[in-house]
Amino acid sequence: MHLEFAVSSCIRATSKFSECSKCVDICPVDTIEIVDNIPAFTPSACINCGGCVGVCPTEAFFLSGFSSIEFFFKFLEEDNNELVCQKDLYSCLSVLSVEHLISLALASNEPIVIDAHSCKCGGESDKLRVKLLDNIEEANFILDSISNKQIEIKSIEKKNKVEEQQKTPSRRSFLSLKGAIKSKQEFDNAVVADELKEFGIDIKDINGIKEKKIPDKRKLLFSILKRQERPKVYDVLAGEDISFTSQKFIDESCTNCQICYRICPTGALSSDNKFSVINFDAMMCLKCHLCHDVCEPNSIQLQRGFEIKEFFEPTQRTLASFNIKRCNECGNYFTYKGGLIECPRCQIEEAEAMELHENARKMNF
Ligand code: SF4
Ligand code: SF4
Ligand code: SF4
Repeated sequence: MHLEFAVSSCIRATSKFSECSKCVDICPVDTIEIVDNIPAFTPSACINCGGCVGVCPTEAFFLSGFSSIEFFFKFLEEDNNELVCQKDLYSCLSVLSVEHLISLALASNEPIVIDAHSCKCGGESDKLRVKLLDNIEEANFILDSISNKQIEIKSIEKKNKVEEQQKTPSRRSFLSLKGAIKSKQEFDNAVVADELKEFGIDIKDINGIKEKKIPDKRKLLFSILKRQERPKVYDVLAGEDISFTSQKFIDESCTNCQICYRICPTGALSSDNKFSVINFDAMMCLKCHLCHDVCEPNSIQLQRGFEIKEFFEPTQRTLASFNIKRCNECGNYFTYKGGLIECPRCQIEEAEAMELHENARKMNF
């Protein structure tokens, strides 16, 4: 299992204005860096922990041969309700996002127990264990509002006792395996792996970037929520406590430049064929922040509360609507804000022509 990267899914490939650095920030061995605005990494330095896979909103990073959906169903079929780092997943449990954890807890008949304290995947950096504990806390916070289930964290005392009894340090350590070279083939692979792997964008990627994609973890959560009994009362949670989706509003400074809904990787933001509205589906939003990063007047704002109702009764809301007219000069549609029925481009061109005309007139005097 090794780390792979699908450049067309990374929101940095969609826009140079994206400030996403979640993969860089989580990497415990600091092997991910941003080169020409796109993540790059050195395979030989990567410990394949999957930390970046877990935090990437769009699943641009993934582990070859690992499907979280397959893992999900296999885990539920097994007579096992405990998750242990590097044992049940052959990667760090931080590869599981908050959405995965909520889905697992809801779908399992038994309470899920996570041996989070034994996570040592990050080596000296404790980032992955801290992230795992944060994810469990967030999942439990949401589960509390939608079910009577909670994810349990295996206590340190219990863990020590079991380890004392077993005394079998058989679990493979990512860090100790790093750099082991056993054959010529592995040597050659290791030389290649020592180089920084950079990612450019070609024609094929451009088509992929334009595609609106819902990540598997969101599809999984959708299908699990559909089978859940609805809560009697829908809570409103603090938006800042939910990391993977959001609710938004758009203020009157919006110019309907169309960038946010054209660029949104999932289609959570969308419009009609006349571009007269901006619609929003919270359950398709990944909270990737791209729409905020590209909005020049900063018109898109996060709503302070997140309505849990969205999980069970997803709605499309209209965040802004515009008066669209045909330009009297060029015939193109534009967002009319009063005054002359001329699009901004024609108005600029007309102002420039007037200026040129005025300059020519002055020179003739
Ligand atoms: S976390 Fe994902 S979307 Fe964000 S920069 Fe890294 S690869 Fe791109
Ligand atoms: S919200 Fe911002 S990015 Fe979206 S259309 Fe309005 S001005 Fe453009
Ligand atoms: S609505 Fe904004 S934050 Fe949500 S997925 Fe689209 S671009 Fe990302």
